[in-house]
Amino acid sequence: MATTLADQRQRNGGAPGAGHHGTHDVTNQPPPLTPYDASDDTALLDGLRREGAGWAEEDLRRLGRLAGSAQAQEWSDQANRHEPELRTHDRYGHRIDEVEFHPSWHHLMGTAVAEGLAGAPWADDRPGAHVARTAKGLVWGHTDAGHGCPTSMTYAAVPALRRQPDLATVYEPGLTSREYEPGLNVPAGKRGLLAGMGMTEKQGGSDVRTNTTTAAPTAEPGVHTLRGHKWFTSAPMCDVFLVLAQAPEGLSCFLVPRVLPDGTRNTFRIQRLKEKLGNRSNASSEPEFDGTVAWLVGPEGQGVKTIIEMVNCTRLDCVTMSAALMRKTLVEAGHHARHRSAFGARLVDQPLMRNVLADLALESEAATALTLRLAGAADRAVRGDAGEAAFRRIATAAGKYWVTKRGPAFTAEALECLGGNGYVEESGMPRHYREAPLLSIWEGSGNVNALDVLRALGRDPATAQALFDELALTRGADARLDAAVAGLKDQLAQGSQANARRLVERMALTLQGSLLVRHAPSAVADAFCATRLGGDWGHAFGTLPATAGLDAIVERALPGGV
Ligand SMILES: Cc1cc2nc3c(=O)[nH]c(=O)nc-3n(C[C@H](O)[C@H](O)[C@H](O)COP(=O)(O)OP(=O)(O)OC[C@H]3O[C@@H](n4cnc5c(N)ncnc54)[C@H](O)[C@@H]3O)c2cc1C
Repeated sequence: MATTLADQRQRNGGAPGAGHHGTHDVTNQPPPLTPYDASDDTALLDGLRREGAGWAEEDLRRLGRLAGSAQAQEWSDQANRHEPELRTHDRYGHRIDEVEFHPSWHHLMGTAVAEGLAGAPWADDRPGAHVARTAKGLVWGHTDAGHGCPTSMTYAAVPALRRQPDLATVYEPGLTSREYEPGLNVPAGKRGLLAGMGMTEKQGGSDVRTNTTTAAPTAEPGVHTLRGHKWFTSAPMCDVFLVLAQAPEGLSCFLVPRVLPDGTRNTFRIQRLKEKLGNRSNASSEPEFDGTVAWLVGPEGQGVKTIIEMVNCTRLDCVTMSAALMRKTLVEAGHHARHRSAFGARLVDQPLMRNVLADLALESEAATALTLRLAGAADRAVRGDAGEAAFRRIATAAGKYWVTKRGPAFTAEALECLGGNGYVEESGMPRHYREAPLLSIWEGSGNVNALDVLRALGRDPATAQALFDELALTRGADARLDAAVAGLKDQLAQGSQANARRLVERMALTLQGSLLVRHAPSAVADAFCATRLGGDWGHAFGTLPATAGLDAIVERALPGGV
């Protein structure tokens, strides 16, 4: 017998297509997570206030709701499905070297810049401005990670550019603007600018001393022309780039605009875009320079010292993005476990699933707390606090090593909480999973960050002092933490390169443990210290001791009647 749409609606509870499909009823599938509030995270809000940016809470909550909206999630999905395309030439054969993006990319970029995720905090004198930006990154990180690349580089370029005040005067207003103006035009005439970075070449990325791109001085002081290539340069539609090249006095940092002040295009030949594992909304390119105009930034021969100002900031953003991916995938896992039943009970009520969620929640809270502590250190260092500058120097490298290293394992486990649905693109989980390893590769791969911690310790004793001053704040509060700190001191004395990962892992874990002991509820702090520091733990997530306060940990991370 033929059925009408009205019949179907009646059977489906009013909505066409829902519930009954003729052959079967669709049941036991979770409802969509969206809309949700990505800032609904106690650890995040506590950290925001603690690190001096409580004034930004209302703004953060608004952005959290936007990040969790169906609209923003749709932009993220679309920007990754419709990948950027390179146009090397126009229809008449002129080189243009432009990249076209889906409109969703521009929506994401426009929002991120307007919300102050690019350079805006450098124009904001309020204490906590950099913390507020990081906290916003933690919630906006629930959307697409790809556009976080140009926003991060734009933010990070400002302190490096300040090493050349005459250039900073011209370009800083655009880099700190909250307006997004896509398209290649004369930078001075644009309402907002974006910056990228070009360090990595074919023969060496971590070891930038091997760079072969040359910078030849011109008759005009400070102006050079570049010849050579870069093997990775992301977001090639940025307006300006900080680029390393070999000048007569050695490796130096240069500002390379895509459009020169007279309106002509600078030579920036994009050979191709990378086909990447993830980060697909973002374009990562291979540019070549040939007579490319470049302006010296900082003293000639001190390129690494200059650009490291930028790398310090992008490293923090890698930690932020990893922590955001953890939180986003935890929220997805928790939502699924609440709404899916198996073997007669909701997944979230199954003791072993609760252990998995609790273990992920611990890891996520530890990552969030460390991220915000690092942001607080950066904020205070920028305002002249030498102790915080020393802490930031060592703790950012250690945090970048450890939090980004945990990302791939975390996102894989969270994905598995959704079962087969988690392996399917529509769930969004594969995208987050593919993104995670990138954060431990760029801005210093794992080994390079671990070795950088050794370098900091060797060059500046104030860094170790700042670290142990921080850890001393919890002395006597937890025996396992005390023992770990003592072990860390022993390990430091050994200081060999082969031990660097062991050392830096313990450094990050003791820092996380000390933050949780000071600021988190006892169930969270106790379970973290028992497992990550005390060794009462397996090798996979979901191996907390059954005596840990699993219910309390899950309820704190995912409130709502577990
Ligand atoms: C998607 C994407 C986008 C990127 N965007 C940019 C960009 O915009 N600008 C830019 O400049 N770069 C960019 N990069 C490049 C990135 O920063 C480099 O890939 C990274 O720094 C590693 O350099 P490499 O690839 O040359 O590897 P290598 O330096 O060859 O390192 C290979 C491995 O060796 C390890 N290693 C290196 N030195 C040591 C050592 N002394 N001891 C022990 N182990 C060591 C590293 O940890 C790594 O695991 C991007 C990369 C990717 C994947």
